[in-house]
Amino acid sequence: MKSRSAIIIGSGVAGIAAAIRLAVQGFSVTVYEKNGYPGGKLSLTEKEGYSFDAGPSLFTDPAELEALFDYAGEPIDEYISYSKVECGCKYFFANGKLFHSWTDRDRLLAEFTEKLGEPRETVTVYLNQAEELYHSIGTVFLNNPLQKRKTWFKRSFLKALSAVRPYMLYNTLNEYNQAKLKTGEAIQLFNRFATYNGSSPYSAPAMLSIIPHTELNGGVYYPKGGMISITNALYRLAVKKGVQFVFNTSADRIICVENKVRGIVINGENFFSDLVVSNTDIYFTYQKLLNDERTAQKIEKYEKSSSAIVFYWGINKQFPQLQLHNIFFSSEYKAEFESLFKTQTVYKDPTIYINITSKMEAGHAPAGKENWFVMVNVPSGSKNNWQELTAYAKQQVLKKLRGMLKEDVEPCIETEMILDPSAIEAGTGAAGGAIYGMSSNSGSGAFFRHPNFSKEISGLYFCGGTVHPGGGIPLCLKSAKIMGEIIRNTKSFH
Ligand SMILES: Cc1cc2nc3c(=O)[nH]c(=O)nc-3n(C[C@H](O)[C@H](O)[C@H](O)COP(=O)(O)OP(=O)(O)OC[C@H]3O[C@@H](n4cnc5c(N)ncnc54)[C@H](O)[C@@H]3O)c2cc1C
Repeated sequence: MKSRSAIIIGSGVAGIAAAIRLAVQGFSVTVYEKNGYPGGKLSLTEKEGYSFDAGPSLFTDPAELEALFDYAGEPIDEYISYSKVECGCKYFFANGKLFHSWTDRDRLLAEFTEKLGEPRETVTVYLNQAEELYHSIGTVFLNNPLQKRKTWFKRSFLKALSAVRPYMLYNTLNEYNQAKLKTGEAIQLFNRFATYNGSSPYSAPAMLSIIPHTELNGGVYYPKGGMISITNALYRLAVKKGVQFVFNTSADRIICVENKVRGIVINGENFFSDLVVSNTDIYFTYQKLLNDERTAQKIEKYEKSSSAIVFYWGINKQFPQLQLHNIFFSSEYKAEFESLFKTQTVYKDPTIYINITSKMEAGHAPAGKENWFVMVNVPSGSKNNWQELTAYAKQQVLKKLRGMLKEDVEPCIETEMILDPSAIEAGTGAAGGAIYGMSSNSGSGAFFRHPNFSKEISGLYFCGGTVHPGGGIPLCLKSAKIMGEIIRNTKSFH
């Protein structure tokens, strides 16, 4: 019989990965999930023969997923299959230029020169430096618990620290890109990577220039069946390892006695365990589950990441000029980010992202039709009038697409569903609908997110996109790994 027990609150990608790691370590693990399905943001939504990935649509760095299956001693191919796509993204610039982000390096460099006039040398230097930074600094920062003293005495960590240059912290990503690249389009394209953790390239540190490494050097992948296949694979693996899932069950409180965790409360009933792992938003973990308003207020002071409005459109025809991933850039990129983080409203000319998985698997839409996942970045916040702002965003999106695609998309929409920041908060418990918790617009946001363990309460741990090392599927998987390793190295919890 297993002698140690763990409760996990939330079955987001990190929650399931944490459950798998603890089950492998010999814990008896129970996951409590408020929704009726696993995956949190990484889930599926369907309507009238169309299916859509509800949240994440871009899959990079499958090595993190492979590492988890290796850890569990299970062959990943029996759970999920994925392949590198030829075109990582098609970019439509406001000046009419088109650019394919090919995943083949030579083709990509040629495209930069031919379509944007950006010399292949500048892009080569940029991507090589991103790779070098990723290996010398990124992997060390992203794979270790920064708040553990032991980390700071590791040789690899000291080496990584000595590789950090002041410009990486004190210059913005945009300043860095302006210095490294020649054309406005290439600068805009590389600036966009700040949005991968919900930040602004005009505020976030130049260190974020490592982000393109994963996509432009590592490649973009497509999981067969869509992104939901990642959740399904993780869920099946967890069940195989003996993890119990309890759905439609919301944790109300974490029980702590004399600074030691004892379990959780659900509907007035106590459920005891040796450890508790919260996979929910760190703000709500303190505010609701720990009733610690003081710490919650401290967290709230940090600037939140951006949120999104997503239109899931069933489109009654096919658009051969579009790819799996498409970006329609704003003509005023800086003003768009000022709108996101300063004036905090929906920008009049937003950058639009369109994901169409029926390009890969025709069955995701009725014959001859397409499933469009249309997303614009918007500020997070629960106080805005999202109904009004969503109607405005839709108008602006349709107007922009009419101009850039030279075709009116509105009459092609035969079904529609909408996700806005308040729906993201209600559906997955993300405070203000902020997709990545805090933004990386400041050094503290970028490098010092909430740790994966509690300094005050023994036996309490955290994983997921709002804690170290950050949001997005690969980093969420890393957060579960860091947390799992801390637990593995802890001899006794109480
Ligand atoms: C629109 C959108 C687009 C995105 N695009 C991408 C992308 O292309 N690529 C990428 O890598 N990432 C993307 N992301 C980010 C990615 O989805 C997240 O970083 C990641 O899925 C977060 O996982 P998580 O483990 O933190 O848990 P979450 O997905 O946040 O799940 C937390 C879970 O906890 C549950 N929960 C909350 N409170 C309680 C409670 N009290 N009791 C029980 N259960 C509770 C929730 O119901 C939820 O299931 C996107 C996100 C969104 C919203």
